[in-house]
Amino acid sequence: MRAQRGSASLIVAAALGFAAIFAAFSADVARVVSARARAQTAADAAALAAAQELLAPSTVAPSDVADEYAERHGARVVECRCGPGSDEVVVTVEIPVELPYVRQERTVRATARAVVDVPAGTEGLQSFFIARLSCLFARVPGLWIVSGFRTRAEQAELHEEKPGLAAPPGHSNHEVGLAADLGYPSDAEQRAAHLNARGCGLAFPVPYEPWHVEPAGAA
Ligand SMILES: [Zn+2]
Repeated sequence: MRAQRGSASLIVAAALGFAAIFAAFSADVARVVSARARAQTAADAAALAAAQELLAPSTVAPSDVADEYAERHGARVVECRCGPGSDEVVVTVEIPVELPYVRQERTVRATARAVVDVPAGTEGLQSFFIARLSCLFARVPGLWIVSGFRTRAEQAELHEEKPGLAAPPGHSNHEVGLAADLGYPSDAEQRAAHLNARGCGLAFPVPYEPWHVEPAGAA
């Protein structure tokens, strides 16, 4: 009887021990899972911010922007593939995680990718205008740019061809990268573009040129 009771309490002690180990282990696993989620959030934010910077450059390098956004989420950028001219950004970040049960500090990593979706034909246009056009193109699929930036000589040529439509050289916002002429697959897209323009900071200032778009307030 005594021996039996003894082994019974041994079993209970062993079970309690396993439970404690399991709880500690689970807590460590939970720490890793939560750190992974935080790392992914940090990577997503850093990649999006760097892509935005490539799309509409300010004075800060895209990799610095990625660093800043990663740090805000408690992460560190390991790699930012975000050089000038890239049409996609890939950011890898890491976050340290303390694991008291195994008495270790590990790092967890996460990677995120963001596409820099610049419409074709925006070369020479001002970057903030490109960003607004990208907004419109994202909201209204199917649009394209028929004519964007024009040199003074190109504007002069066009004015000679279509004096009624094209402004004389020196008088068009196309020449300063602040106007674009859009192509529409159908009237439906044209209506949608006009409806969404204001929400993207754009305007169609010339009533008889429903294709000619400028940043709102540019004229
Ligand atoms: Zn135009």
